[in-house]
Amino acid sequence: MDFTVSDKMQTILKMIHEFVEKELFPLEKEFVKKDFHELLPVIREKQRMVKEMELWAPIYPPELGGMGLSMVEHAMVSEALGRSPLGHYVFWCQAPDAGNAEIIHMYGTKEQKERWLAPLVAGDIRGCFGMTEPDMPGSNPVLLGTTAVKDGKDYVINGHKWYTTAADGSQFCIVMAVTNPEAPTYAQASMIIVPTDTPGFNLVRNIPVMGHEGTDYASHGEIILQNCRVPQENLLGPEGHGFVMAQDRLGPGRIHHCMRWIGICNRSFDLMCRRANFRKITRDGQTLASRHIVQQWVAESAAEIQSARLMTLHAAWCIDQVGAAKARDEISAIKFYVAGVMQKVIDRALQVHGGLGMTDDTILAYFFRHERAARIYDGADEVHKTAMAKRILRRYTD
Ligand SMILES: Cc1cc2nc3c(=O)[nH]c(=O)nc-3n(C[C@H](O)[C@H](O)[C@H](O)COP(=O)(O)OP(=O)(O)OC[C@H]3O[C@@H](n4cnc5c(N)ncnc54)[C@H](O)[C@@H]3O)c2cc1C
Repeated sequence: MDFTVSDKMQTILKMIHEFVEKELFPLEKEFVKKDFHELLPVIREKQRMVKEMELWAPIYPPELGGMGLSMVEHAMVSEALGRSPLGHYVFWCQAPDAGNAEIIHMYGTKEQKERWLAPLVAGDIRGCFGMTEPDMPGSNPVLLGTTAVKDGKDYVINGHKWYTTAADGSQFCIVMAVTNPEAPTYAQASMIIVPTDTPGFNLVRNIPVMGHEGTDYASHGEIILQNCRVPQENLLGPEGHGFVMAQDRLGPGRIHHCMRWIGICNRSFDLMCRRANFRKITRDGQTLASRHIVQQWVAESAAEIQSARLMTLHAAWCIDQVGAAKARDEISAIKFYVAGVMQKVIDRALQVHGGLGMTDDTILAYFFRHERAARIYDGADEVHKTAMAKRILRRYTD
């Protein structure tokens, strides 16, 4: 294993760290209070600065104007950006756009790339990804209710999606739909690019998540597709390849998320330690840091963050060496392990802040509300644990 960071990469990471701290931390108080939509002018100004620094969309392949980073380098960039909830968006490597760009790049036709990928990477449009449905178990996505039926030169799509992150303001949605119910289970579904202004594509609402509906990029949409007609050229990749492509999308995506979560851990840990050192709890000036229980939280968090970080870098290194398909155990393990560590670290940091932790005067309450979902999306903890355990147990059958 080699996690050596080149001199060039060290410079880039330092620039990102400084930018996130100087330009994005001060925006967070507004971000948690205001609609994302209202904040867009100032975000666009920060994005202009990122472009000027030539750090725009760093995780994309070089042919798309990105830096052509290895998975390990990509992981470190994601960690640096993750310290602020605005980091990925301002540097334009946010989910779900990064994953969408990846699959359009891998599977898209020349016309699809020109129409959707080029403006997406340039930051001129956004997209969303609609797989999960309210009436079907997202944990077993082969059970899909949405159908796409051929009619003349078109597909006619009907279905009900939700948790379509960032649908509000997106120009297109990659919709997962059953195109051939007679095919073997894993060949039944396809991905289809649906422009969001197509008649029959209805964004019903932004779902309130932990008490907050959100707007624009910071939202999760519920969508009803009603006789939504798109040309068959909008099929992304081969028909029946939906699940294969979903897997291609998720492997590197999990590294991206896990290192973003490590960034959140680092930020929460910094806040916890600073608060512990400065919060006086007795007349003679003893601080929270003098208490055994707080010292335990600090030590446990430091060890857990380091183990989660090394596990994630190891999984990234495995993807670089042997590809995502052969690194399935490593990817499953980090998905549930890092999400769990993040939840514990945020919780401890919030506890050390007492009443202040519950307010929006620090970023901790935002992390606490919004990052709980980490144990659910991209495969719930239990699903990853079961799949991983089954693969391990198969090795012990003789
Ligand atoms: C904030 C957020 C953003 C999201 N963004 C998107 C998006 O952009 N696009 C998209 O398509 N989807 C998105 N999702 C949906 C997400 O992928 C699903 O919520 C997830 O796959 C779980 O599916 P479900 O909600 O239907 O839960 P279910 O499948 O009903 O599962 C519920 C619970 O049951 C348990 N469980 C399920 N199966 C098993 C099993 N085999 N063994 C043991 N326990 C089990 C788990 O604890 C699980 O949490 C998002 C979700 C959230 C919360």
